[in-house]
Formats: sequence, C-alpha cells, structure tokens
Amino acid sequence: MEVYPTPSDIALIDVYHLGRAHVIGTFLLLGDAPALIDPGPASTLPALKAGLDAHGLSVADLRAVVLTHIHLDHAGATGLLAVENSHLVVHVHERGAPHLIDPSRLLNSASLLYGDRMEQLWGNVRPVAPERIRVYTGGETLRLNGHTLRAFDAPGHAKHHLVWFDEANGAAFVGDNTGVRLPGVRMTRPATPPPDVDLEAWGRTHDLIEQLHPQWLCLTHFGAYDDVAFHLADARLRLRQWAEIVRQSLLAGHDEATGVATLEAALASEAATLSPVEQAAIIQQTGPLTLSWRGLARYWQKLGVSGVRS
Ligand SMILES: [Zn+2]
Repeated sequence: MEVYPTPSDIALIDVYHLGRAHVIGTFLLLGDAPALIDPGPASTLPALKAGLDAHGLSVADLRAVVLTHIHLDHAGATGLLAVENSHLVVHVHERGAPHLIDPSRLLNSASLLYGDRMEQLWGNVRPVAPERIRVYTGGETLRLNGHTLRAFDAPGHAKHHLVWFDEANGAAFVGDNTGVRLPGVRMTRPATPPPDVDLEAWGRTHDLIEQLHPQWLCLTHFGAYDDVAFHLADARLRLRQWAEIVRQSLLAGHDEATGVATLEAALASEAATLSPVEQAAIIQQTGPLTLSWRGLARYWQKLGVSGVRS
C-alpha cells in the first residue's frame, strides 16, 4: 500500500478508479469514531474496503460519511455503505441531500454525459434513507470524537459544495474547488464540469479557503498538499486562464470539438515545464477535456457574454 503525505490523524485511501492509481482518493479520519470524507463512487467499493482493511477497519467500524459534494465520483458509494452499516450517519450540504435520498435526477443527468459507461464508471448507486442524513448550509460544527470539522458553504464547482475544515490539524477538505493535482507534480488543473460552474462564487470560495489558513489542502483528485500558497495561487490562475480560453473560443464561434481542442492545446503548453513522465501522467489522468469545456461554456452562455449565443 502506497502511503501518501497527510496529517498524522488522517489517511488517504486510493480507490483505484477503473484500476488506475491517483484518480480518486477518500480521506479516512482516524480515531475513536472513524469517518470517511468522500467515500468515492459505488464502483470502487471493493478497493475502499481493502483500504479500510489495511488500517484494521471495516465498513461496520465507520461512524460517519462526510461529503464535500454529491457528484458520483465523490459520493456514489454512500448509499451502499449506509445499507451495510446501520449506524452510519451522512453529513452533506442541504442542496445535495435530496439527491442522496432520490438519486434518479442525478443519475439521469450523469447518463446524458456518460451514456452506456455509467455502470462501469459509477456502479450501483443506492438511495440514502432521510433519517440517516444531517444537512449543512455552512457555519456549523461537526464533532466526531477527536476531529472537529467546521462546515463552509463553498459554491463554484457545484452549488451543493461544502469545504470542511479540521481545526486541530489544519486540513481543509476542499473537494474539487482547488482543482486536480497529482502527487509530486507542482501544477493544478481546474475541475469544471457542467452544470453549476460559477466563476464569481468560485473566487469567493478561494478567498474563503485562503482565509482559513489551512496547513493542508485535501483533494479527492488526488492527495493532501501542504504547499498551500502555491497550490491556491496556481488553482486560481489556471481557472482564470481556462475560463478565458473558453470565452474567447465561444466569441470566435468555435464548435465544441474545436473549443475542446483549444483547451487541450492550452493544457499541453501549461504542462510543457514538467518532466516528460509528469506530462504523460497529467495528460492521461485528464483525458479529453470535453466536460471541462462544457462546464465553462455553460457558465458564459448563462451570463450572456456579448457575442455568445445562449
Ligand atoms: Zn465534483
């Protein structure tokens, strides 16, 4: 088992999405009330269980699932975990809770994006019973026997996004709000899927994270990073750059394929300062940027940027 840098009372479990390392990770809060922050998709439950086992734990030992947001790659396993463990309590943004109770709308909209790959990618997404759910809007404190987590409303990537801040160790669980990064690589890339991308709100969320003065930024994709000032500055910069590339592409009247190619070319040139191995890893990890392009295009189209048809 690979061990990643984290605060000492937190472990990172790689759930090997589609068998690949460093794509989706879940954070295990160690202590008397073990909890998972973003358990990952339903499709990777066996790897999650193997990861728990490596820490001497099973699903039955968990006391809580804490969600940054309800996208399937972060929260899809929650229903299955709640079925297996009747003590499990789920902590989630108020706006996300209805989609845990009835995932059909979430699954339908994901089907539009992923088509017949849904089952392979995300697995068997089960509903969560309402009585197992605690909702948050930001400003609350969650105490989990040893860990005190403060909840903050954190829109930008998604309307139902929270940032959780573990005050004792300075770990901020930022979900997808500070982009995607690979262990050992000093570069972030934005995570901008449709439909909720909101750049203004996102900027405020970045301010909020900065003002927490975290010691660690804990990313589902992938890892905990303690070079916080660099990471945040890089995440802000890349998001601004990608947003502008997509805006210019829309203004130029590009079709989607051309727009996506423009974004991919930008990523390749941003990554040019990295080693060939790092470049290959980041480009393979990233895959096609269609969803990133669509999320940003949708933001600009909603805003009605001049010259952009809505
Ligand atoms: Zn997400």
